[in-house]
Amino acid sequence: MLLANLRSQCGALSRLFQYTTLLDCSPFLRSFGTATKTEFRLMGEKLEDLPSISKISDNVVRVLGQNPSKFTLQGPSRTPPLFRFIPSDIDYNHLTGTNTYILGTQVPYVLLDTAEGKPEYPPILSSALDTLPTPLTPLPDISDIIVSHWHIDHIGGLPSVLSLLLSRWQTRNPTLPSTSYPAPRLHKFPIPQDVTGIAATKHNHLSEVVESIPQGTFTPTAEGNTFHDLRDNQLFRSSSPTIRVLHTPGHTIDSISLDIADDRALYTADTVLGQGTAVFEDLGLYLQSLNKMLEYGKNDTAGYQILYPCHGPVVKNGRELISTYIKHRLEREEQILQVLRGKPTEGGNWTIWTIVKVIYASYPENLWLPAARSIELHLLKLKRDRVVQRLGGEGVDTAWGLVSRTPSPSL
Ligand SMILES: [Zn+2]
Repeated sequence: MLLANLRSQCGALSRLFQYTTLLDCSPFLRSFGTATKTEFRLMGEKLEDLPSISKISDNVVRVLGQNPSKFTLQGPSRTPPLFRFIPSDIDYNHLTGTNTYILGTQVPYVLLDTAEGKPEYPPILSSALDTLPTPLTPLPDISDIIVSHWHIDHIGGLPSVLSLLLSRWQTRNPTLPSTSYPAPRLHKFPIPQDVTGIAATKHNHLSEVVESIPQGTFTPTAEGNTFHDLRDNQLFRSSSPTIRVLHTPGHTIDSISLDIADDRALYTADTVLGQGTAVFEDLGLYLQSLNKMLEYGKNDTAGYQILYPCHGPVVKNGRELISTYIKHRLEREEQILQVLRGKPTEGGNWTIWTIVKVIYASYPENLWLPAARSIELHLLKLKRDRVVQRLGGEGVDTAWGLVSRTPSPSL
């Protein structure tokens, strides 16, 4: 593909790159190249087939979102332009999209995320609820829904799930008026008013989703807000088992993780995945969050061991995987610094594009443009660390150089 063609697509694609930086997120792409030792270890893993409903512990039932797609790294139903770059030799059909989780041993339960809004999901969720003890009183099935972050495959199901829960309650309580329905509370870490980046663009559909929620299907805050704001380190007591909230931004600004102590599990949403490595909006924040997760409960003999991700299976060696994620990023960072320490291959200064051409030399050229976004995110993080500086230019032609010979930031 001509370089000019690649660059002409960069503007449109860059919006998507913040959502999905391909070379660093897609398990599929790991069949290409050998950019780092860590990547090499991660390559070749077979994507695991998961049942739609799984009781994964005494406290937790996993329900798949029925949204298989390349977009969720799990199937063919969505094909935005970005994915023309994805090799097509992957069998996506055996994977079934975003994981949601029902927490609790007795009604009412807590639901983690609502998937994308596919019509196939509410019946599956309903079937999952039917496997659990049913409320005998006018209690709802679900008292609280915790949303992990603003991405559409986690929030899109809010309207249909809330409608389902009201419908189930009305069926169980035909003589009660709907005004007496104890509707679920919705919880989410707030996005700052002055947020920049992709969360401030049209790719954030949160407000549209909220507008689509039927009246009377949820309990707003005392101030009339849709979401009850989650806080870092908040103990979520209205549930069984007890949940502690960790704000772990980076994948998105509002991403959270949840410590589910009874399971010795950390719910990681999209920050750490069951297979593959996650994407991120802000690498600096992302690495800070990975380190925070690694440190959390490290010296606690009852600290978490396993991970409950929003894509892929339960991770048994949770801390080891988080360490691998960090190592992978730092290896990539060191690669970039090594390139910047050398003489530019095409004269002048190093640009994002010439860096990509060196680091991804063994990858197919049609993957270089997605790789450029990943390199840019690394450079932006290194700029904040005052290790590199932006020298000018735009897009993939942006020039970068070292501020000093200091090779690595402290993390
Ligand atoms: Zn996400």
